[in-house]
Amino acid sequence: MIQKESAPLSLKPVVRIRKRMEPDHKRRYRVSLWTTGFAFLGLLTSDVICAAVILFLYFKGVLSSLDMAPGVWMLLTLLCSTLFGALLTYFYTHMFLRPLKQFTEATQKVADGDFSVRVKVNDSRFLRRSELGVLADSFNHMTDELAATEMFRKDFISNFSHEFKTPIISIRGFARQLAHEELTREQQLEFARIIEEESEILAGMSANVLLLTKLENQEIVTEKTSFSLDEQLRRCMLMFEEQWSALNLSIDMELDEIQCYSSEEMLSHVWVNLISNAVKFSRKDGALYVGCTAESDKIIVRIRDSGIGMNRETLSHIFDKFYQGDSSHTGAGNGLGLAIVYRILCLLGGEIQVESDPGFGSTFTVFLPIEGDG
Ligand code: ADP
Repeated sequence: MIQKESAPLSLKPVVRIRKRMEPDHKRRYRVSLWTTGFAFLGLLTSDVICAAVILFLYFKGVLSSLDMAPGVWMLLTLLCSTLFGALLTYFYTHMFLRPLKQFTEATQKVADGDFSVRVKVNDSRFLRRSELGVLADSFNHMTDELAATEMFRKDFISNFSHEFKTPIISIRGFARQLAHEELTREQQLEFARIIEEESEILAGMSANVLLLTKLENQEIVTEKTSFSLDEQLRRCMLMFEEQWSALNLSIDMELDEIQCYSSEEMLSHVWVNLISNAVKFSRKDGALYVGCTAESDKIIVRIRDSGIGMNRETLSHIFDKFYQGDSSHTGAGNGLGLAIVYRILCLLGGEIQVESDPGFGSTFTVFLPIEGDG
């Protein structure tokens, strides 16, 4: 009996974290209110200053009476409003142009490939809550995403080159030895076998990279058909009969009859990857369970092994491209299988849950939505 569950990991394939933002209409309403308040205060202040100037001139004796011609009143009001307006314009321009200058400089840096740049609009609460603040948040979010993509691209290229270079170097080395050295028949056969194995690794990796690239560029699944899921799982299990027989695994299959409407080819990749891992990471005389059942709104497929299991650190990376947790099995894979499984389930609207206990085994549970065939 497999001891369950010390480090469960549940994943919904589409993981998108978005910052919660204030609803647009609320924010706009607040900004308009503030702007109107500012304009009103500006006008009021300009009136007060105008009155203060007139009183000041009157008390200083420059004006003999407050009973002036309307023309003079208008002229004085206009003068004060112009002066105050100019001051306000300077203040506003300074307040709004300074962040805009920051944006211009930041955008130029991004164009030059520097994604570490951030824009700060922290002068006032008003600015932070205004459209400028939202623009700064979006800009910073964009540079965060660009930086993550860039890091991912660099990692991917270095992993990719490493994974491809290793078998190529090995093939070249053994091919050279075969051509130049005096070898016994056994050595020749051994080197030829290694070359064949390494070529198979390369072929498998190229096929997986091509498949993953195709899946990543795909957004919708069109080739759906109705097929027997239990039959498909049985066929996939049979593909690995040689391996599980060699390990003397006890096989337990609990497959309800399920007619599934989905992409048969894609799901076949999912089961092949999960079953091949379950066998690969099993120990001699272990147990392997494959089950499927249907509930009202979903189909559940469970693949359980009693193999080496995974610790929490491994669990948190298993869906990463080229990640291989167990070093003793690296030759028998390329770390792309679960990345393919994950991408396929994203496309099919499914979910995957992993439970594992290091030393005791792992359970992968796939949940698929039930769809009609129309
Ligand atoms: P690989 O080609 O190495 O099998 P995968 O993407 O299929 O690549 O799996 C990534 C890693 O997840 C494996 O290297 C292994 O460490 C871990 N893993 C996957 N399935 C199992 C399992 N059933 N038992 C233990 N470890 C597993």
